[in-house]
Amino acid sequence: MIADLHLHSRASDGDLTPRALITTSKALKIPIVAITDHDNISGIDEAIIAGQEKEIKVIPGIELSSYSDIEMHILGYNIDYKSPKFVEELEKIQKRRLNRNLEIIDNLKKKGINLDYNDINRKGSSIGRLHIAQLMYQKGYIAHVPEAFDNYIGANGSCYVKSEYITPKEAIELILDSGGVPVLAHPYRFIEEGKIKKYIEMLEGLQGIETWYPLHSPAIIEEIKKIAKFYNLITTGGSDFHSPNHGSPLGSANYHLDEKTAEHLGVI
Ligand code: AMP
Ligand code: MN
Ligand code: MN
Ligand code: MN
Repeated sequence: MIADLHLHSRASDGDLTPRALITTSKALKIPIVAITDHDNISGIDEAIIAGQEKEIKVIPGIELSSYSDIEMHILGYNIDYKSPKFVEELEKIQKRRLNRNLEIIDNLKKKGINLDYNDINRKGSSIGRLHIAQLMYQKGYIAHVPEAFDNYIGANGSCYVKSEYITPKEAIELILDSGGVPVLAHPYRFIEEGKIKKYIEMLEGLQGIETWYPLHSPAIIEEIKKIAKFYNLITTGGSDFHSPNHGSPLGSANYHLDEKTAEHLGVI
């Protein structure tokens, strides 16, 4: 079965509503998707309802940002996303996001970039740096969005603020406690080649690794498959779709969900 297990909606920094993600998946003949907004579950219900109407299976998911000595993103699949503990933890994370965003806005002000945080009109969404970058673009401060990351708010930018992240261990525990399946997202985005095994060994409780990903070459996919086999992890795939106008297109991970993995994820 073709699947895309890494999609962002307007509940975080995606451009499409959860319903539009499902309509797009239907048009592309992708019958199984997971909604994985950053630190936020507010898009899931709408996606599930749209999925029922359009016969698209929607896996409730999340992408938690975490940090130990490097940033790592942990995907959680089939979580009990309404469990009070889970919701409470996400609220704490959202408070930290707000504080960080406001600090970034302050830093930008010192560089002559005056943004009104309220102009990011996304109540209930998980707001982050992409929204700030988009607002900088809208207000004419930059020629294109990547410039915001390169010069100002990316890890090496002059206005960067490191967030108070949860650790990968805490992210994995939170997902497990909520009945979900924790999977390491896009390992090569943050982990240097050759160091993946070291990090996997640190991630106790991890059950899977995102293997099919638009930025992964066939050689990298083969290498991750070997690592997954060695550590008895499931292999998942997703596009990390954010928008029809930038980034990787929906479905572009070319992922086929096999029966064993589907069973592990609770899809069948
Ligand atoms: P945050 O979660 O607030 O730290 O923001 C991170 C998000 O910003 C990522 O999920 C991406 O969607 C986006 N992002 C990070 N780096 C870049 C970049 N160089 N160009 C465009 N978007 C980026
Ligand atoms: Mn994002
Ligand atoms: Mn990510
Ligand atoms: Mn993502």
